[in-house]
Amino acid sequence: MIYYSAKEYKKKPQILIVGSGPASISLALSLEKKKVNCLLIEAGNLEYNSKLQETFKGDSNGNFNFDLRNNRIKQFGGTANVWGKRCRPLDIVDYYKWSNKKISLFEYQEEASKILHVKNEFDEKILNDNLKQIEFNYSKIDFSSFYLKRISKSNYIDVVLNSTFFKLNGEFGKFKSADIIDNNSKIKYIIKAKFFVFGCGSIENSRYLLLLQKKYKQLNQNLPIGKYWMGHFKTHFGELLADFSKLSILLNKSNYLKEGDTAAISLKHNYIEKNKLENACVYLEPNQLSKNNFNKFSKKLLCIAPEYTKHITNLFRKNLLCGTSLEIIWGQKTIRENHISLSERKVDFLDIPQIEVICNSYSEDLDTPKKLMEQLGIYFVESKIGRVHFFNINNKEKILWEGNHHIGGTIIGDNPLFSVIDSDLKVHNTKNLFVIGSSIFSRSGHANPTFSIVQFSLRLGEHLSKIII
Ligand SMILES: Cc1cc2nc3c(=O)[nH]c(=O)nc-3n(C[C@H](O)[C@H](O)[C@H](O)COP(=O)(O)OP(=O)(O)OC[C@H]3O[C@@H](n4cnc5c(N)ncnc54)[C@H](O)[C@@H]3O)c2cc1C
Repeated sequence: MIYYSAKEYKKKPQILIVGSGPASISLALSLEKKKVNCLLIEAGNLEYNSKLQETFKGDSNGNFNFDLRNNRIKQFGGTANVWGKRCRPLDIVDYYKWSNKKISLFEYQEEASKILHVKNEFDEKILNDNLKQIEFNYSKIDFSSFYLKRISKSNYIDVVLNSTFFKLNGEFGKFKSADIIDNNSKIKYIIKAKFFVFGCGSIENSRYLLLLQKKYKQLNQNLPIGKYWMGHFKTHFGELLADFSKLSILLNKSNYLKEGDTAAISLKHNYIEKNKLENACVYLEPNQLSKNNFNKFSKKLLCIAPEYTKHITNLFRKNLLCGTSLEIIWGQKTIRENHISLSERKVDFLDIPQIEVICNSYSEDLDTPKKLMEQLGIYFVESKIGRVHFFNINNKEKILWEGNHHIGGTIIGDNPLFSVIDSDLKVHNTKNLFVIGSSIFSRSGHANPTFSIVQFSLRLGEHLSKIII
């Protein structure tokens, strides 16, 4: 049932989940299957509200300054009201070292595909020892309207809208109730539950855990809450001049170029580990070459590969040559200094401290895309498909930040000095407080995060339904 104010809600749920984005809704659906009831506390309403968006306001410093109000949405369905719907699970190389306990996500892939209405086909084609071709798929639903209808009919899931969670009450890491403020009346309500889960979205998970730790002294003071915050980098690193027919056969894309289709190639597990890189992928976006552009490239190439230049000039005349832009997306390193903290002076309209984010890039962040470009160069020459033209990007200032993916801040690990939650997603040194969303990722990988956010929520749903009995 959907409640529009906390005043109307009189029950005691087994599990209280903060937020109603993809992380929280997937968890609720998983609990519903096991007949466990839960309550989603959502700060937003059913529509976008610009006053409420102001509660995301904060300061962002470092190399990447961005307006925190623009990347997250406070509304039923969360940021999935504006997301691009592009999906792919994390690779095993991204998460197999997060804990000594084995984390397996594959068993939740089919269910995650069903929840997001995405084709469960993430084929990989091995190109050589170091590279593989990968697939992304797109969600086919309007997430919030689909799940609003679905949840309205549920006997196990309730939602309270227009209500901001701000505090937990309990002792010795065992929490008994949550304090909620009605956004309109500013009246406080207390809701009791057995388990509490934060699904507030990546930055906000750190914000409310920091509040519990720093202001209410309810958490271990050494937990690195807000630390190791990261995202994805995205930079146009060069171009490929390719024999169109060979490229489209190789990548098995018959409509490649004609319909503006995009193919993606990424680094393989062993190569990433051996070279201590982050995960990365390159998008190959073909475009028809103008005569001017072709002349520019061929002039450069003529001195180093005269025979090859003759060959491609021939292809160009027959319209069989394509230029392909190479945009690389790669993971930001997990660095403690990149972090979220609570502002000491600024608060939002509910008197909750705003946040400050520091996000910097380092020269080592260029290692991954450079190695990927190098491997692409070798691969395209060896397979006689074309030649890669590298742009001169040697300066970390040229790295762009993909501002929509917020990762880390409450990362998984076994040691409370270096992580906030354990492999069961429980906050260290607590008995019944859990976290979901991409804030839990200890490494960013390159894939858009939501698919694996859902996988982790389903995994937590299974765990909670076992321990709640
Ligand atoms: C423009 C854009 C494009 C994107 N495209 C993609 C894409 O193509 N693919 C992809 O995988 N990801 C994409 N993302 C990221 C994606 O939207 C997020 O990964 C996803 O929404 C995270 O889900 P979540 O449930 O963890 O958090 P959110 O969706 O942010 O939901 C959190 C919810 O918690 C609520 N909340 C927060 N604090 C409180 C509180 N104190 N009390 C009560 N409620 C609270 C919020 O109102 C919100 O509804 C994109 C993001 C943006 C901005």
